[in-house]
Amino acid sequence: MKLYNTLTRTTQDFVPHEAGKVSMYTCGPTVYNFAHIGNLRTYLMEDVLEKYLRYAGYDVTRVMNITDIGHLSSDADSGEDKMLLGAKREHKTVLELAKFYTDAFFADCAALNIKRPDFVQPATGCVDEFIRVISVLMEKGYAYKAGGNVYFDTSKVEQYHKFFNFKEDDLEVGVREGVDEDENKRNKNDFVLWFTKSKFEDQALKWYSPWGVGYPGWHIECSCIAMKYLGEYVDIHCGGIDNVFPHHTNEIAQSEAYLGHNWCKYWFHVLHLNTAGGKMSKSSGGFLTLKKLEEEGYSPMEYRFFCLQSHYRNSLVYSEDSFDNAANAYRKLRQRALAIPQEGERDEEGFARYKKAFCDAMDADLNTSLAVTCVYDVIKAKDLNGATKRALLEDFDKVLSLDLLKAEEKKESALSAEEIEAAIAARAAAKKAKNYAEADRIRAELAAKGVTLTDTPNGTTYKIG
Ligand code: AMP
Ligand code: ZN
Repeated sequence: MKLYNTLTRTTQDFVPHEAGKVSMYTCGPTVYNFAHIGNLRTYLMEDVLEKYLRYAGYDVTRVMNITDIGHLSSDADSGEDKMLLGAKREHKTVLELAKFYTDAFFADCAALNIKRPDFVQPATGCVDEFIRVISVLMEKGYAYKAGGNVYFDTSKVEQYHKFFNFKEDDLEVGVREGVDEDENKRNKNDFVLWFTKSKFEDQALKWYSPWGVGYPGWHIECSCIAMKYLGEYVDIHCGGIDNVFPHHTNEIAQSEAYLGHNWCKYWFHVLHLNTAGGKMSKSSGGFLTLKKLEEEGYSPMEYRFFCLQSHYRNSLVYSEDSFDNAANAYRKLRQRALAIPQEGERDEEGFARYKKAFCDAMDADLNTSLAVTCVYDVIKAKDLNGATKRALLEDFDKVLSLDLLKAEEKKESALSAEEIEAAIAARAAAKKAKNYAEADRIRAELAAKGVTLTDTPNGTTYKIG
């Protein structure tokens, strides 16, 4: 299999550290808000990579962190604390907030058929490990204390900028995000390993450390969590393209300083989902969630199909039209797949031939759009019988997870369409008469019977199940 490696800027043969096994690390979400569909694109493409490696016979171990502490709004240690901001916004404790959005994240993943990684580790559960690694970095002379905080000294590593394609100019902290320079830093790219002198007096979660009571920086968590579960070598490290600098650059610097050898061989980065207005971002507020798409009548599988139609190393532009086209194409494709009769004996030679085309597509740096073309080719093939076509689609779906042959569960409510419409009209009348208690009662009664209402500018819509 060939994979593009951001570290070498080339497409390389994938050769794991230990034959037959793959250790894979994924930067998980910062759980202060819902994941937007851009975040989900990244996790979805990583899911395809993991599934294809398993399909190709590798024994994969995948680890993901959950950032529930220490991530400031600028990735370069300045700005507001994302978790604190979220907790204030929602009148929750940081841990309540983290639990709520971690559950919401995995619910989205489940709806999108994204497999849960083998190990999922919240940062707050690993602080002893962070302190141990930071202590070693201090002992080895890679870290220093200044102004109360502990910093990683980037001038001590032989080569800090391991990802060459990021120009020094892009790295100026003050220039990058309009954020203030931290005067405690000896070098402009030094980063915080441990905060004690926090500007966030109300920081709820703090731990004792040799450097004072405080909390860890963001970058250290991924190195430590990866090492805890995967050992000293990682085969593939994944993330969105924005993670390259400073997050992954810092992860490499501190991990290799700690270990004394190269750490991760392949870096897999997914390009962003953008809208016509630019990058979709969690902190900017106006973003699309999976739930929103569902409320508009789309299914998670339609979004999965939309993502698989484009290559992970191209930016994907979301527009209502482009997504609607993909959703229609998915529905038609599924109908055609479900209509394939289960006839004849499976033809092994035909199966192998079409499977090879699929593998060739996936081996070429995970060309999922070509893999989707392979699905169409199977459906229209004149030289395959029904049994072979169905077997091939099931086989490809181990990787694509598009549920093409899964018959839709018929969702039913105890109420007829007329009864639901009448209840919606009664609720609208109650709202008009400002009888909100009655309106809420009707909504709750419908919910108890499996009918969920959504109020839109054009009236109320409903969904069964
Ligand atoms: P966060 O929860 O903000 O730490 O982001 C979770 C993951 O989503 C990271 O791997 C980011 O690189 C990735 N990501 C952020 N914005 C986008 C986007 N617009 N499109 C695709 N991936 C994104
Ligand atoms: Zn990370």
